[in-house]
Amino acid sequence: MAQEKLLLIPGPSPVVPRILDVLAKPTVSHVGPDMVHDFKEACENLKKIVFCENGQPFIISGAGTLSMEMAILNTAGPGDRVLVLSQGYFGQRMAQICLAFGLEHDLLESNWGKAVTSRELEQRLRAKNYNIVVCTHVDTSTGACAPVEEYSQVLEKAGALFIVDGVCATGGIPERMDAWGIDVVLTAAQKCLGTPPGLSILVLSEQAMEKRRNMATVPAYYSDLLRWLPIMHDPSKYFSTPCVNEVRAFAEATRIILEEGIEERFERHEAYGEAIRAGLGALGFSFFTDPSFLASTLSVVRYPDGVDDKAFRAGLNANGVVVAGGLAQTAGKVFRMGHMGNLTSAQVRLVIDAVEKTLAGLGRPVTPGAGRKAVDDVLRV
Ligand code: PMP
Repeated sequence: MAQEKLLLIPGPSPVVPRILDVLAKPTVSHVGPDMVHDFKEACENLKKIVFCENGQPFIISGAGTLSMEMAILNTAGPGDRVLVLSQGYFGQRMAQICLAFGLEHDLLESNWGKAVTSRELEQRLRAKNYNIVVCTHVDTSTGACAPVEEYSQVLEKAGALFIVDGVCATGGIPERMDAWGIDVVLTAAQKCLGTPPGLSILVLSEQAMEKRRNMATVPAYYSDLLRWLPIMHDPSKYFSTPCVNEVRAFAEATRIILEEGIEERFERHEAYGEAIRAGLGALGFSFFTDPSFLASTLSVVRYPDGVDDKAFRAGLNANGVVVAGGLAQTAGKVFRMGHMGNLTSAQVRLVIDAVEKTLAGLGRPVTPGAGRKAVDDVLRV
């Protein structure tokens, strides 16, 4: 078998053996006791991860885009006015979803590399009335992290329902649903939560659930959260066959998160993000994202002059690390490196060593150990 490479794309993130072991267990009945136990535990743990005591979790086969669609479909209908805050590709996708369902919506966009500020949000809400506001917490195309807590303060006054796309943040960056008044966190299994792709994950506040109940119908069948609600309360009931192994693996992933400690996990993401950027900076790279919006979960990295995107990524791959290219307008100009989920400090060091080796292989002048020293200065352990 080929040597396993360290997968540092902006999701899926590397999956640790404890989770892989659960995936490899024999498939059990989707309505049997083992599955019911793990499903319920995953739901309870998920509420802790997003700090939502009385919210309603949903764990459904799919991916992040289905979560986006379900969040919108189940809270917005005719007569609603949706404001989509966007700092990149996935914010634009949210607007496309609104368009696909004929919803009245506007897009408020920042330049790529930054995010809409809470002041800009406030100004827009003064100019026009919206009852639903959607934002992308971290846009994977730009590495920019939106000021979600500040948005929530503005939205509390405005009384709008607040939906957060946490696909590249949930479990790695705080999303305090109750304290901040977030109504929907939508996310997916494969990034900071550390499970392989395959799950659409949402948590709705009581207000968001009330909104869904007040909408007579939604233009969907599988994506209608009210059809899934009985299963989330009692997973021994049937609506559509869940991906049994993936749900059980996700339950294990939530255990790992709570064992680490959710606050400690946020701090670890901060530390690794800082360390990786220090290491890359010491090796001559710079960053696409504006310094005041840097996400701790991924970096969007500009090359030193004269380093070719394809040659660099191929070299890094040969040295055991997989990163992604730029998306849309940044293609060919940057690489994107995820540093989220269940990474270790040894892996952080390994990646910086691999980058140094790759640069040397491309004939670039490098000071041996400069990247590693910068990482050590941040991490110490
Ligand atoms: N939102 C964000 C912020 C994302 O990063 C992604 C995936 N990269 C998605 C939504 C869509 O998720 P998926 O690819 O799982 O459909």
